Amino acid sequence: MGLDFRFRDFAYPLAIFNKKRQFDKHQYLSLEALEQYQLSRLKEIIAHAYAAIPYYRKSFDSMGICPSDIQSLSDTAFLPFLSKDILKVSFSELCARDLKRFKPLELHTSGTTGGQVKFLVDKSSNILEFVYYWRFWGWHRYRLGDKFAEFSAQHFTPIEKNSDKFFEFNPVTNRMLINSLLLSVTNINKYVSIFKAHKPLFLKGLPSNLYVFALLCNEVKHHGISFKAIFSQGENLFPNQKKFIEQVFSSPVFDSYGHLERTVAISQCPYGNYHIHSDYSLVELIKPKNDFLSSIPLKKGQSIFEVVGTSLHNYCMPLVRYKTGDLVITDSAQKCCPCKRSFPLINSVIGRDSDIIITPDKRAVTALYVALDRLPGITCGQIIQESPSMLEIRISCSSDNISQLQNLIKKEVSSFTGDSMSIKVKRCSPEELYTADGRKFKSIISHVDPSVILS
Ligand SMILES: [Zn+2]
Repeated sequence: MGLDFRFRDFAYPLAIFNKKRQFDKHQYLSLEALEQYQLSRLKEIIAHAYAAIPYYRKSFDSMGICPSDIQSLSDTAFLPFLSKDILKVSFSELCARDLKRFKPLELHTSGTTGGQVKFLVDKSSNILEFVYYWRFWGWHRYRLGDKFAEFSAQHFTPIEKNSDKFFEFNPVTNRMLINSLLLSVTNINKYVSIFKAHKPLFLKGLPSNLYVFALLCNEVKHHGISFKAIFSQGENLFPNQKKFIEQVFSSPVFDSYGHLERTVAISQCPYGNYHIHSDYSLVELIKPKNDFLSSIPLKKGQSIFEVVGTSLHNYCMPLVRYKTGDLVITDSAQKCCPCKRSFPLINSVIGRDSDIIITPDKRAVTALYVALDRLPGITCGQIIQESPSMLEIRISCSSDNISQLQNLIKKEVSSFTGDSMSIKVKRCSPEELYTADGRKFKSIISHVDPSVILS
């Protein structure tokens, strides 16, 4: 999930400003008023889903449900869950009739954890995304137009073509895209000069990007880089990483969690508490089935839940009771937040956990799983760094032409790592990609200590 500040986002400014004004009020509504808003949105979306989307018409009819049965938020319990597998096989049936009038945009989820899923979002959903980020960043003193820097790897691939391109600045949106693929001891002074020259007020990135950047800046004493706030998202933010990044830049780090399908948005307020943005979507927290979850250490009063989300704003393909597969921890001791926002609280998010890949030329490449996302046919994938110059890519795939897929994978991965990395691709069953006890999946596993980039 991300706000791109693309030019077309400004094509309907009135709708954005109106929604922002409305959303600013929502956060301080009473819980009852907020639930009333959710219910009115839910009723409209369910009525639309039944009237315009063949999949929902068929499944509601088969269960004897009609939209007027939804009279409270808890009535969603009568509705069936929607899984990623259903989204994959019933894509066309989940599209609204008269689709074009919603100006749909096709997006794809990650191909590493259980297969790539495509889905559609519309104008209303794009406005929502813009307003959500504007409000969340606004909690941390962001004002529209403030200079903003964001780490990106995908934008700067293949690395060979961008080996001297450290950033790109768009003066219209005041946004800087920073090339994360060149982060190294050799290049860090270049990055420091860029940040000191442009002085972005905010920085956003994956926790692993931010951590590597902090590690390198820490090597350059008196780097003089600071921000009003740093925003992390997309992976687990570990407490030691957060503390270190905050120390190096003398700036607070605030984390957020969401996903491309846009059925959940959770972010930290100035008090560091995670709030569920309940006007963005309807989030249900359900008891997960997996037995292994009992092994996750919980404090007294804490519980673990799976996140199920329902779109409240996407009309071209509303996802109803979508099982995200993501987990959160709640804490019964958390009743309300000193920030006075009425959005519900959770303790923490259990998100994607991945390691940093170090290239032979000692660059730190984070989030390398995106290389696999670009390729069709991969059901599940995992990248393992055995040594500083060797990667093993383990994939489960549906492709008949494995040798062709192997070549494509090598090409994609080396567009991030460079040609000096040796890459071998191995076909596995999905089960083989999980840890020995079947408890946990990691998309990237490195046996190389990331601190070698400092040597
Ligand atoms: Zn708060």
